Amino acid sequence: MHTQPSKIIQGIGVSPGIIIGKVVVIKRQTCRPGWYQLPPEQIQQEVQRFKDAVGGAEQELLSLRKYFTDDLADALSIIDSHVLILKDRMIVEQTIQIIEQNNVNAEWALAQSLSQIQAKFDKIPDPYIKDRYSDVKHVADRIYGLLFGQDPYQLIQGDEPVVVVANDVSPEDTIRLHKENILAFLAEKGGQTSHTAIIARSLNLPAVVGLEYITGVLQTGDEVILNGTTGEVVVRPTAEQKEQYQEYSLHNRVRDEELAYYTHLNSETIDGYTVRLSANIEVTEELPNVLQNGAEGIGLFRSEFDYFHGVSHPCEEQLYATYKELLATMAPHPVTVRTLDVGGDKLMHYLSQNYSHMDDERNPALGLRSIRFSLYESQLFATQLRSLLRASVHGRLRILLPLVSSLNELYQTKAILRNIMSDLEQEGASFTPKVELGIMVEVPSAVILADVFAKEVDFFGIGTNDLIQYSLAIDRNNQFVAHMYDPFHPAVLRMIKHTVDAGHAQGIPVSVCGEMAGDLLCAPVLLGLGVDELSMRPPVLPHVKRLLRHSRYDQLHELAQDVLLCVDGRQAREFLASYFSQYYPREIRSS
Ligand code: PEP
Ligand code: MG
Repeated sequence: MHTQPSKIIQGIGVSPGIIIGKVVVIKRQTCRPGWYQLPPEQIQQEVQRFKDAVGGAEQELLSLRKYFTDDLADALSIIDSHVLILKDRMIVEQTIQIIEQNNVNAEWALAQSLSQIQAKFDKIPDPYIKDRYSDVKHVADRIYGLLFGQDPYQLIQGDEPVVVVANDVSPEDTIRLHKENILAFLAEKGGQTSHTAIIARSLNLPAVVGLEYITGVLQTGDEVILNGTTGEVVVRPTAEQKEQYQEYSLHNRVRDEELAYYTHLNSETIDGYTVRLSANIEVTEELPNVLQNGAEGIGLFRSEFDYFHGVSHPCEEQLYATYKELLATMAPHPVTVRTLDVGGDKLMHYLSQNYSHMDDERNPALGLRSIRFSLYESQLFATQLRSLLRASVHGRLRILLPLVSSLNELYQTKAILRNIMSDLEQEGASFTPKVELGIMVEVPSAVILADVFAKEVDFFGIGTNDLIQYSLAIDRNNQFVAHMYDPFHPAVLRMIKHTVDAGHAQGIPVSVCGEMAGDLLCAPVLLGLGVDELSMRPPVLPHVKRLLRHSRYDQLHELAQDVLLCVDGRQAREFLASYFSQYYPREIRSS
């Protein structure tokens, strides 16, 4: 029995779920490789031992790859990038050189190579590139494991499901843990946007990361409570804490069960007005989650992920496989794929890795981003459009162009599409010639020209996250002006109304795919303004559907007119609070 006291540690919740369970602490990554000198006649044998470990690591990765071919296409490309790291000169040749030159053991030589690589990464100012060192470390850890002759995950072979606690969990470990008897994981390293976090969320595996010293605080067999949303971890909880969490978790389960009732009902108001509720996703692993939550399409597929983890640009076949899977899984529902949206705050590491001159951009939010970047790198853009067109026959595709600010950008894109279509025709490849093309309305110039754009496209997608940033001149990632970032600013609401009206005047549908769409306070206002589709993170869908099914369209319309008259966001919120208490049942108000 433990005599150590209970305590609460705050980490970063990266994948939701509340779990109470016993832990298994994995110490692999904290092993310190010892140094020992070898007699010259044993050196070649040592080199061979190292090469065998590298070969074994590759085999492990490849077998993991085979195992998951069908259901985890995106995660597989992360595995591929790790196979490439494994072949890197810096790791393999350098380690062999150190063994041969110093007559030392392979573990120590590998540690030397690794610290040289780390020193190089440390000099890179961009935090995203710096972060990629963790990928190199994961690969080296796999080699260490084989050199030490141990499989750390052997520890979790018991019958009772456990919470894994480790210094760092690699994306491959996450995939593997998902298939084992695992409830959740806790790690010392990692952040919201790490590959590991993305994969954990996709696989619905609750996780908290960024928990310094957690492998020292916990011992195998200890109990924990973790909350994958808030990042709170209760170490060795008291009976009272366990009871509180059990109640909380029960409350959440009851709420989820109640919400599950709505997932497969029509998205319509009491008076029969229907809208489309669809999902925003980033990787195909999220598809089961999308279907489970009753989405009627993908309203926004952020296509950046394929460009994000590879060592080079993704090829046409890789992109085609992603889009085909999306379209075939969701058919006959529409799938809206947004073309590459890099720049600004997104994927700067990707840009600076491949386009070093872009480091000099003084104001990246107003720089070569999104559609501007795609038109600048037109070959890269053409590859994406070609793979989209080829995939179009597998379902209902809508192509969405980000950050369009002038008609010229749309015309240039259409010209590229025409050329690709004529190439495909000549090659005898099949595609949908009348594929739907839309623009994101997320800068004020697109709003002002909405009537003109509406004649040229098949649909509008309002990107409120950026629209708020660009219309109010508020950097969406700047903590000092975060309080001014206001979806209920009258200028924002008027822009949305203007865009919806302009779209409808030309008979094209208008969706909202920014965070506003999944915000329970904003959604009724958007619906009342006439928005045809709301696209949001999958878990929010049942909440919005429940709200919709408790609404009357005529009241929503009236509500929107009233909110449009509010002088500022605060007044709008106060007005909405009283509207909610008058028209919606308690469970909606509190969800
Ligand atoms: C938006 O800007 O509202 C949007 C949906 O796109 P992102 O958040 O990816 O910029
Ligand atoms: Mg945007």
